[in-house]
Amino acid sequence: MTLSAPDTSTSVHSGEGLDAPVTADVLVAGAGAAGLSAALALAKAGFSVVCVGYTDRRANGRTVALFETSLRFYKSLGLWERFRGKTAPLQRISMIDATGARFKAPSVAFAAAEIGFSAFGENIENNVLVDGLVAAVNETPGIRLVEALLSDIRFEHDAVIAVTDAGQRIEAKLVAAADGRGSLSRAKAGIGARSWTYPQTALTALLSHARPHRNISTEFHTRSGPCTLVPLRPLPDAPHRSSLVWLMSAEDADRRRALDPEALAREVEIQVDHLLGAMAIDGPSGFFPMAGMSVDRLYAHRVALIGEAAHVFPPLAAQGLNLSLRDSAALVEALEDAREQGKDIGERQTLKAYANARKGDISLRTNGVDILNRSLLSDFIPVDVARGAGMFAFLMIGPLRRALMREGILTHGSLPRLMQPRPRRRSLTSGAGAQH
Ligand SMILES: Cc1cc2nc3c(=O)[nH]c(=O)nc-3n(C[C@H](O)[C@H](O)[C@H](O)COP(=O)(O)OP(=O)(O)OC[C@H]3O[C@@H](n4cnc5c(N)ncnc54)[C@H](O)[C@@H]3O)c2cc1C
Repeated sequence: MTLSAPDTSTSVHSGEGLDAPVTADVLVAGAGAAGLSAALALAKAGFSVVCVGYTDRRANGRTVALFETSLRFYKSLGLWERFRGKTAPLQRISMIDATGARFKAPSVAFAAAEIGFSAFGENIENNVLVDGLVAAVNETPGIRLVEALLSDIRFEHDAVIAVTDAGQRIEAKLVAAADGRGSLSRAKAGIGARSWTYPQTALTALLSHARPHRNISTEFHTRSGPCTLVPLRPLPDAPHRSSLVWLMSAEDADRRRALDPEALAREVEIQVDHLLGAMAIDGPSGFFPMAGMSVDRLYAHRVALIGEAAHVFPPLAAQGLNLSLRDSAALVEALEDAREQGKDIGERQTLKAYANARKGDISLRTNGVDILNRSLLSDFIPVDVARGAGMFAFLMIGPLRRALMREGILTHGSLPRLMQPRPRRRSLTSGAGAQH
C-alpha cells in the first residue's frame, strides 16, 4: 500500500472534509505534549504525519521541568527558540525531610555545576509548552493536526485504518500511540496494562512570592508525598515566581479545593516553612489524583506506545514528559533506521528495536518513582531508616551523588541521536512528506 503525504494545510476540525481518507506514514494518536512532540520529530525526520487529538491549553497551575535530554531534543528540532524567555533554569535541587520521622533524613542539595551543567533543566508552564508545540505543528509542512478523537482503529496486514468520532477515515503505516493512560490504540492492539492508584492527589498552582528562588527547586518530603517549589520565569509585575506541586491525601485536596486563593497561599507558606516569604496564588489551581501504570509490551503489529499510553507514575523528580520525549526520539531513530534499510516502518522488527531501546529506562523510572513515593508514605521505622541512610549517603558520597544527578537528567544507556550533545543531521530519503 502506498501512502501519500497529508495535505499540509494542517489544522482540521472534526467534521470537515470527511469524504476523502487522510493518509500518512504515521498516525500520531493524541495531541498532548507527548503526541505533539512526537509528531514534530517525525515530520522533521521526513515522515508524513497525521496527529489526532484535542489540544489542552488550559492554565491549571501545572508546569513541566524539562531536563537536559529534553532540551537537546527540542534544540535538535529547532523548536527551543520558541520557548526562550519563557522558562526558568533549575540550577540546584534541595531536598528537606519534613516527614516528622523519628530518624530524620538529612537535607541534601544537588548542584548542576557539580556535574558540569549550568542547570539541570528549565521549568515552563504546561500550557505555554503546548501552545508553542501547536504553533510549531501548524507551521511544519508534513503534519496535519485533526482536532477530534479516534473512535476506532483496525490493524490490517499492511496498514492501519482509523476513524475519528466525526467519521474521518485515516490510513497510515503505523500508529504512534500517545493517546494517554486510557489509550484506545493500546486496547485495540490487545496490549495489556496494569494500573494502580496512590492515596494521593497533586495540587498544582503558580505562586508569586516575596523572596527570590535563586533558581533552586526545593522539595519538602512530607508523609503524604513531596511538596515541591520549582522556579518560574519572572513577569513584569511579579519578579519572584515558582510553581507548586504538592502531593496530599484526597481529603486534604478536597478541603483545599474549597479554600479561597489567599487562604490556600497561607497554607502553602506554612507547609514550605516561609522559605520564600509571603505568597500569592496566580491563576487557577489543578488537582490530579495519583496513579501508576505499566504495560505488557511497548509495541504490537503497526503500533508503538509512547508517553502516558506506555507509562504513568506520580510527578516525583519531574520524570514523566522527559521520559516521553526519550520515547519519541527513540521511535524516530528506529523508523529512520528502518527507512534507510528499505524496511516497512510498521513491521515487527522495526518496533522491536524501539521497544528494546526503551524498556530499561521506562522500567527504571516507573519503579524508582514508585519506591521513592511509597518510602515517604510509609511510617514503618526500618523504611525511614533506609530512606535516611540513602539521603545521608547522597550527602556524604560525592561520586554517588553525582551518579544520581546524571541518572536523573540523562540516562545510563545510550541516548537517541536527537538527544546526543551534537546531533548528527541525517539525510532524508523518504518521499512522503520529506519537505525539510
Ligand atoms: C502535576 C503534574 C506535574 C508534572 N510535572 C512534570 C515535570 O515537571 N516534568 C515531566 O517531565 N513531567 C511532568 N509531569 C508528567 C507530564 O505532564 C506527563 O507525562 C505528560 O503531560 C503526559 O503527556 P501525554 O501527552 O503522554 O498524555 P496526555 O497529556 O494525557 O495526552 C493524551 C492525549 O491523548 C488524547 N486522547 C485520548 N484518547 C484519545 C483518542 N481516542 N483519540 C485521540 N486522542 C486521544 C487526549 O485528548 C490528549 O490530547 C507532570 C504530571 C503531573 C500530573
